[in-house]
Amino acid sequence: MTIGILGGGQLGYMLALGGYPLGLRFRFLDPSPEAPVGRIANRVTAEYTDVQALHRFAQGLEVATYEFENVPVEAVRLLAERTVVYPPVSALEEAQDRLREKTLFKKLGIPTTEFAAFEGHGNFNKALKQIGLPAILKTRRMGYDGKGQWVLRTAKDVERTRKELPEAPLILEKFVAFKREVSMLGVRNRTGETAFYPMVENHHREGILRLALAPAPNLTSELQRTSEEYTHKVLEALDYAGVLCIEFFEVDGRLLANEMAPRVHNSGHWTIEGAVTSQFENHLRAILGMPLGATEAVGHSAMINLIGEAPDSAAVLAVTDAHLHLYGKEARPGRKIGHVTVRANRPEKLRERVGQLPEFFRRTEFCLEAVEAGIRPGAHRSS
Ligand code: AMP
Repeated sequence: MTIGILGGGQLGYMLALGGYPLGLRFRFLDPSPEAPVGRIANRVTAEYTDVQALHRFAQGLEVATYEFENVPVEAVRLLAERTVVYPPVSALEEAQDRLREKTLFKKLGIPTTEFAAFEGHGNFNKALKQIGLPAILKTRRMGYDGKGQWVLRTAKDVERTRKELPEAPLILEKFVAFKREVSMLGVRNRTGETAFYPMVENHHREGILRLALAPAPNLTSELQRTSEEYTHKVLEALDYAGVLCIEFFEVDGRLLANEMAPRVHNSGHWTIEGAVTSQFENHLRAILGMPLGATEAVGHSAMINLIGEAPDSAAVLAVTDAHLHLYGKEARPGRKIGHVTVRANRPEKLRERVGQLPEFFRRTEFCLEAVEAGIRPGAHRSS
């Protein structure tokens, strides 16, 4: 059975690694000749919208999926004429537009940040009047890792941003003074079976995920249940198959949905070693209509992204239950080139092991602080 994947980055790479033990084969389509999957699978190098390449790519596939959220909807539609594609194209359409995404959350009764969508300079003031300061301005489409965002705290920020306003549909959101950021990974298969991973606590810097703690420290059954309920609503509404990630802000014990990703997610990388079944294997099971694997955590995990540079491999591997993943990407500032997951049976042991990681990780010193905060009941640092 061959699975087709649009996008050949690290998520695709790990999907293939998760699927090989199940006897699956993989074929990728990516415009970049440098896509990491080139090392391990067949790759068609072409633009996503190249109709002939899509036809070649689709031949003989069991099912196709995507690992890149900004893949053109048009390409997925074309592909769907040739083969079965999951998650459904409607999920991609919703997730690519922050307004549609937030409107869907509202329609399903999922609390989200207050927002006002607008276009053109003339309507900026109206949106500001509605939302007030502090606020965060985002492009409706094509934003990721904090790109296409402006934080507005003062009138001065507003005036500076006014000069930079892009000619694109925008959304102004109330700035949420959250206690922490958490995410939920849910999975639904083609026959409607669902499963949910324990919630994860996420720490970002400069809009990029740096550290994920799983299960989220001090995770109450109430919080877990609520996020499962919200995610379940989205999975059902979209008649979804695959892994879906919803990112939430936790504020005053409540969850506000920020955004969703219709794919495997960086905040789920810990599941490779830290859960009974990884998000990658479960995504494949789901889109193939196979029974889902158990989603329970096996102990406590800290997943640290390697951004811009890699540590000394041997020094990482010297730490008990530390797992190094390098994606085969060239190191460039701000680029995710790998991750390390450290696992332990107890939070205290996890802290000790994270503390044993090489000097390289001290530069992300907040990692250790966050892990430490996580082992003290009730204490949290938001990033
Ligand atoms: P996003 O692209 O929506 O995930 O935003 C990137 C990061 O910006 C988030 O992970 C938050 O840390 C921060 N952020 C986004 N929206 C808000 C908001 N409404 N209030 C406060 N922080 C936000």
